[in-house]
Order: sequence, then C-alpha cells, then structure tokens
Amino acid sequence: MRQQPGVLIVEDEPAIAELIAVNLRHNGFRPTWAMDSASAQRELDDALPDVILLDWMLPGESGLALAKRWRAHPRTKAVPIIMLTARGDEADRVAGLDAGADDYIAKPFSTKELLARMRAVMRRHAPEQVASTVTVGALLLDGATYRVSFAGQPIKLGPTEFKLLQYLMSHAERVHSRGQLLDKVWGDHVFIEERTVDVHVKRLREALGSQAGPMVETVRGAGYRLTAQSAPAALVLAGT
Ligand code: CA
Repeated sequence: MRQQPGVLIVEDEPAIAELIAVNLRHNGFRPTWAMDSASAQRELDDALPDVILLDWMLPGESGLALAKRWRAHPRTKAVPIIMLTARGDEADRVAGLDAGADDYIAKPFSTKELLARMRAVMRRHAPEQVASTVTVGALLLDGATYRVSFAGQPIKLGPTEFKLLQYLMSHAERVHSRGQLLDKVWGDHVFIEERTVDVHVKRLREALGSQAGPMVETVRGAGYRLTAQSAPAALVLAGT
C-alpha cells in the first residue's frame, strides 16, 4: 500500500542535508532535498511529502516566510512542517510556531530526537490521511492521488475545486455557509470575498458534469451541500 514516508529537506548547507538524508534513509524514510525556496516549491508542486524539514536561514526567501506561505495554501496547508535552525531562543521558537510550523528543533540535534519529533507530527496528522478516500453515491475522491471519478469515469478538477469537493464529500448531506467553506477550504484568508465561493462552486459543478454536478446543491439563504440523492431544486428550497 503506502510507500516509505516522503520527507522534503529544505536546507542550504549540503553537509547537513546529506547527513539528515542518510539518517532518514537508514530509518525507512524517503528523503528529497531542496537547497532553496524555489526548488522546494518545485518539489512540492510535484508531490506532497509526509513531512517537511525546513531550515530557517535560507538564501533568498527565509524558512519562516516559506512556512507561512505553505500554511496559507490549500494544497500544502496540512503537510506537517518542522523548522530546523541554529536559533534556539524562545522568541524565535514562537515566531516559527506562529508561522505555522508544527514543531521546532534547534541545531545541533540528534537523529533520535529528529525521528521522535517527525513521528509525533505525523501521528497528529494521521487521521486526515486515513480518511483520504471518500465516496458519496457514485462519486469517488482519492486524496492521496488527487483523483476524482464519477461512476468510474475520471473527472478533472483544479486544486481549489478539488479541495472544495473533498470538504463537501467529507461532510456530505450537511449544509455549509459560504463563511464556513471559506474557513475550512481556504483557511484564514479574511481578504477573500464570499462570492469567491460561488465562483468555485460554479466551476466545480461544471467540471462534475450533468450527472454529478447537481449533487452540489444550493440551499437558499444557507449555503451549499453535497448530497447523494440530488433532489429537484424546488424540493430543496422548500425543505429549508
Ligand atoms: Ca541555513
């Protein structure tokens, strides 16, 4: 089933990165290495790791700025991040955690400590990975492979529509307000207007097509819901 857990090491010092990579490989992980923010972003666009080990002091964009950005992005927001840094005082630790890091290790650290912390953050994130495949009616979504199908026919979705559908399917038959969807799907993006939700729901319905599209229902005055039994529009409105 699942392969060895993938670990993205973002570290500009080759000697340190190599040492971590050797130790991780030795302990059953599959490390990849990025030496700056641009190559780290490319790695993430390519495949999501199970954990990111992120150096604070990087050339160009800092580890702190990267952590903030990845936390704010729907695709990367759930990937555990452990900050690695020579800076160990409390103010830095707090800044790292505020930026969205799940944990923080001051250099130098032992492999044993690193592995213990990695296992801890992966454990905390595990429930979401377990529930990665969801089915509602003939609609199937696989969160691990980013695939969606309806009655066996593959459906192509953009990243936001995917995330939106994943949330609606995980909480099917329940009505979600636009504000709730913004919170859950987009995160703490207070500057995004609620109309943005309508735009993405429209795109989602179009992508799902004439059969699966109507499963995403508008509940007037309340929001949206995904349902296995799509009712005629009139019934939906009368029911609320
Ligand atoms: Ca560094």
